[in-house]
Amino acid sequence: MAPISNSEEYDFLVIGGGSGGLGAARRAASRYGQKVAIVERSGRLGGTCVNVGCVPKKVCWNAASIAETLHDAVGYGFKIEQTGPFDWTSFKHKRDAYITRLNGIYERNLVKDRVEYISADASLVSSNEVLLAAIDGSNESKTVKAKKILIATGGYPDVPNNIEGSELGITSDGFFDLEALPQRVALVGAGYIAVELAGIFNALGSETHLLIRGETVLRKFDPMIQDTLTEHYGKLGIKIHKNYVGFRKIEKTGSGSLLLHEEVGSTPLEVDTLLWAIGRKPQTSSLGLDKIGINTRNGVIQVDDYQNTNVDGVYALGDVCGKVELTPVAIAAGRRLADRLFGPAEFSTKRLNYENVPSVVFAHPEIGSIGLTEPEARSKYGDSNVKIYKTSFIAMYYAMLENKGPTSYKLVCVGAEERVVGLHIIGLGSAEMLQGFGVAIKMGATKADFDSCVAIHPTSAEELVTMV
Ligand code: FAD
Ligand code: NDP
Repeated sequence: MAPISNSEEYDFLVIGGGSGGLGAARRAASRYGQKVAIVERSGRLGGTCVNVGCVPKKVCWNAASIAETLHDAVGYGFKIEQTGPFDWTSFKHKRDAYITRLNGIYERNLVKDRVEYISADASLVSSNEVLLAAIDGSNESKTVKAKKILIATGGYPDVPNNIEGSELGITSDGFFDLEALPQRVALVGAGYIAVELAGIFNALGSETHLLIRGETVLRKFDPMIQDTLTEHYGKLGIKIHKNYVGFRKIEKTGSGSLLLHEEVGSTPLEVDTLLWAIGRKPQTSSLGLDKIGINTRNGVIQVDDYQNTNVDGVYALGDVCGKVELTPVAIAAGRRLADRLFGPAEFSTKRLNYENVPSVVFAHPEIGSIGLTEPEARSKYGDSNVKIYKTSFIAMYYAMLENKGPTSYKLVCVGAEERVVGLHIIGLGSAEMLQGFGVAIKMGATKADFDSCVAIHPTSAEELVTMV
């Protein structure tokens, strides 16, 4: 039997083979020649993003967008023959095969960068020792030493623990296991995942119910985004159940469907699939953090601006720190940490700045957001220092179509120089549009800088540089 690891001691041992862990491990080994190992317990590399997150989700979003385009094509004069229903099962298997190919690419990249890949479950023994437990069913284990340890173990989807039958629901992890498209689906939640998956189910033909605690989805986003998307999802046929206060219980019927009971006396909602999308929790319970006294709050590892935990030589980043749960954030934090720990002296203060991180919600249509929302800017700078520019219009794409989608843009500016501190966009193409505007905002662009850039016509984005 092959040993769990090839060595007894490493310069840098990374726990978690996801976005952040891979970013840090590869940089430390390939650029700085450190002796690095990465430990992953799921049997496949890439973490949440590659296996049950961004990547398979975006492939599903693409499929949903194609379904919408096929529908729109008729408006443009195409005679679409009956194409038959969407074949979810073969799509799912093809998507799985793509992910398996990516897992292989990640493994080969580690070989190329001279990072040792350890397939095991890791936990801390001391601030420089890690216990590796085999995941192949043998009871083999081994303790290795490491000069520096990084915890990048990510998170897992939350499920309510106070609702009878809550285990009958699935989470985003289970979404990627679905072998067939459910005819009727209910999603609980109002954040990124609920909004993205509801949009996919609806576009592909499921009767889609979205249960939200408030009046709008995406309550952390600018009010313009919340209102526009909530209204549009209603128009698209998604059944939005507002002011959801929790199910009393969930029951499985003889035919396999689920009855979702709300208030006493009300008719239960019957669906084929229930999906919880109520947030994620940090994956820390089996790490033995308390053994070495690492500070946590509700399981979330507490770190300073440089990803240092309170224990010398032990670092943490990515979703396990719960700050900004996005793949590029975890990767960037990982690479900067490796630069700081192993790079030249001028990198000794390198760290990720968590301000002005652009993010996109792959809704229908897409949403892009960076910086402060209007209420955040008003509370930070005061009403009199904030100037808002906004516009709503029908994108030219819809000119030939009966059913129009929304486009709304907002710039949040502050001070006499009108520095742009927030940009919020919803409409076709917003995802691809945001990256470039993100660069401008990171550079401190003002409204005048936006206006000095000649518009590109005819596009929707041109409205962002011609607002009055
Ligand atoms: P992860 O990628 O979760 O990696 C952690 C790894 O650690 C896992 O592989 C886990 O198996 C391993 N591990 C845990 N404990 C141990 C242990 N004890 N020993 C060994 N290994 C261990 N972000 C975006 O930027 N864009 C998107 O479009 C996007 N879409 C998403 C869609 C969904 C459905 C979800 C759930 C998330 C999405 N995200 C998206 C968020 C993104 O996936 C995460 O922010 C990112 O993966 C976090 O990276 P990480 O390295 O912190 O953790
Ligand atoms: P989010 O934090 O985005 O949203 C969870 C939502 O669930 C909250 O907005 C809250 O809405 C609602 N909620 C919380 N508790 C309950 C409850 N008990 N009952 C009903 N609703 C509840 O988490 P997600 O799980 O959607 O996603 C996790 C993270 O993954 C995201 O924050 C994001 O960082 C990342 N992600 C990024 C994506 C992207 O970049 N495109 C895509 C998917 C995920 P309210 O308070 O309004 O009730």
